[in-house]
Amino acid sequence: MQSVSAPQAAPLPAPVRPDPVRDRWAAPMRLAMAEAALAPATGDVPVGALVLAPDGEVIGRGHNEREAVGDPTAHAEVVAIRQAAEKTGAWRLGGCTLVVTLEPCTMCAGAIVLSRIDRVVYGALDEKAGAAGSLFDVMRDRRLNHRPEVVWGVLADECGEQLRDFFDTHR
Ligand SMILES: [Zn+2]
Repeated sequence: MQSVSAPQAAPLPAPVRPDPVRDRWAAPMRLAMAEAALAPATGDVPVGALVLAPDGEVIGRGHNEREAVGDPTAHAEVVAIRQAAEKTGAWRLGGCTLVVTLEPCTMCAGAIVLSRIDRVVYGALDEKAGAAGSLFDVMRDRRLNHRPEVVWGVLADECGEQLRDFFDTHR
């Protein structure tokens, strides 16, 4: 005779599931967050970016420095891309990955496309100005001839918290 066990509640999902797509970018995202943490010293919003060579070496890093240098284009991504191009001696950054704590704006998405970077990994969504899926989706627009892979939401909560902390204390 078969025993019939009482119905059991479905097991609760683990709080943090392994996420192979995003987990591999957590370590570089933490480096980008450390870069972002340098921005508030000059009153700049904490956004940080890295450019990684195909082998993973950091070849560019930058944080938002609009206030520091008085330049409206001095976003973290642009600073990091310029440094990477200078280091490699070439404007084409094919095979490289850009890691940034906040979803890129339209200017930065444009700079990423122009640099031929092949992958963009970002943290927090920017629902007001993001151009990588939120407000626009510049980098995956089929009308453009270069479309990097986009990985969004890596350490999104922590990246968002870093920004909220800044605005809570500076505004
Ligand atoms: Zn930007």
